[in-house]
Amino acid sequence: MDKVCAVFGGSRGIGRAVAQLMARKGYRLAIVARDLDVAKAAAAGLGGDHLAFSCDVAKEHEVQSTFEEIEKNLGRVNFLVNAAGINRDNLLVRTNTEDMICQLHTNLLGSMLTCKAAVRTMIQQHGGSIVNVGSITGLKGNSGQTVYSASKGGLVGFSRALAKEVARKKIRVNVVAPGFIHTDMTKNLKEEHLKRNIPLGRFGEPTEVAHAVVFLLESPYITGHVLVVDGGLQLVI
Ligand code: NAP
Repeated sequence: MDKVCAVFGGSRGIGRAVAQLMARKGYRLAIVARDLDVAKAAAAGLGGDHLAFSCDVAKEHEVQSTFEEIEKNLGRVNFLVNAAGINRDNLLVRTNTEDMICQLHTNLLGSMLTCKAAVRTMIQQHGGSIVNVGSITGLKGNSGQTVYSASKGGLVGFSRALAKEVARKKIRVNVVAPGFIHTDMTKNLKEEHLKRNIPLGRFGEPTEVAHAVVFLLESPYITGHVLVVDGGLQLVI
């Protein structure tokens, strides 16, 4: 059976690094993001017959039609990585409702919708593996990131519950929770100041998270696990 993996958020950052690693391991990849041109460039950069799809994870009809298109063009999805995510950092009292909804819809509802679509096809295939990309903030909380932290904390509860729900169907669901990683999402942060708090003394690289994602995707006896990849940040915050 072909190993077909949909990587939501696979066009940039952590998702792109996951896709690069998986391409080298022989998976057929669907690179999914809103910006089709960027997703196409990422898919082309992988070599081989990987494809790009445009989809907003927060929109159920787009998620459904994307899974149909992936099946038609690459085969049925048996691996799923949810790396699509956004942040709208602000103090709660300054966060408007639109920014709250946007973060919850992309980071939490979006993963619920893709998992729902993937689980349906994985049940038919008698197995599959899902990794959702959470955040250390979802476990520890972070000032200025209340809504983002809630979306990522919710993702942990969702993933663990789903892991229980689908284990008998041989479907595994795990979470990788990164700390500060060098991507577009963190490019405006004050790195010199923030890295003083990180025991390993630096931000992580997307490839370092990718190895954890692929490890969980391929670990047949691990489900419902949250793997923190944060240079030791969780030890001190
Ligand atoms: P990034 O470089 O900004 O990439 C985000 C990816 O998500 C892009 O491919 C983007 O493509 C896609 N995306 C965003 N909104 C989307 C939507 N509504 N529908 C479909 N795709 C969407 O971010 P990153 O740092 O790699 O983050 C990846 C994941 O790791 C996120 O869930 C983030 O919360 C999490 N994380 C990151 C860090 C960090 O330090 N970087 C730490 C902890 C957790 P389009 O814009 O074209 O849609």
